[in-house]
Amino acid sequence: MTFDELKLAEPLLRAVKAEGYTTPTPIQTQAIPPALAGRDVLGCAQTGTGKTAAFALPILHRLSEGRPAPAAHGRPIRALILTPTRELASQIVESFQAYGKFTSLTWAVIFGGVGQNAQEQALRRGVDVLVATPGRLLDLMSQKLVSYKALEVFVLDEADRMLDMGFIHDVKKVIAAIPAKRQTLFFSATMPPEIQALSKGILKDPAKVEV
Ligand code: AMP
Repeated sequence: MTFDELKLAEPLLRAVKAEGYTTPTPIQTQAIPPALAGRDVLGCAQTGTGKTAAFALPILHRLSEGRPAPAAHGRPIRALILTPTRELASQIVESFQAYGKFTSLTWAVIFGGVGQNAQEQALRRGVDVLVATPGRLLDLMSQKLVSYKALEVFVLDEADRMLDMGFIHDVKKVIAAIPAKRQTLFFSATMPPEIQALSKGILKDPAKVEV
């Protein structure tokens, strides 16, 4: 399997080549086709497997193909990625930068432990893709700084770590606030019962991918 065979948009193929990737990793080969087809995905995969590109490339493809008319006030969020730590959030947004650099899409990252001004400004300007940790996101949501009315894709990254770190309640609050009609990509290294139950509750007929 090659990246060309995955039928990704040309700007994404160019970016992947610029990164020096020659072949998709197993999680990419398995997750990208159903994700591109619009299906929900349940991925059992750890960091280091190429999981980030497995969700970032289909998201960038989907958002760069169907661009909605520009909104009067900034760009509404079309994809939300929830991840447990600021390190993971920073790495994910760097991956969007790398894979999306030949598109005209925009992204931002928000996490706690730093002032909220720059994050607030990014949200006011608007971005296509928002990468966030749950606590700061809920904080900004409670200040009415986040609108999900255009949200099309939701990614829950490292679901089992969310549980271990005590964030699962916050995650559920975010899920309750986003549109029910969406594509969901769900990743977890392990599948303890609580995570299985959560995945059952939020995924519709998912493609199951395990590496
Ligand atoms: P991740 O599991 O998403 O954290 O990715 C782990 C590392 O693998 C990152 O440094 C990526 O840049 C790299 N990577 C992802 N996909 C590929 C690929 N298809 N070929 C080579 N390296 C890759």
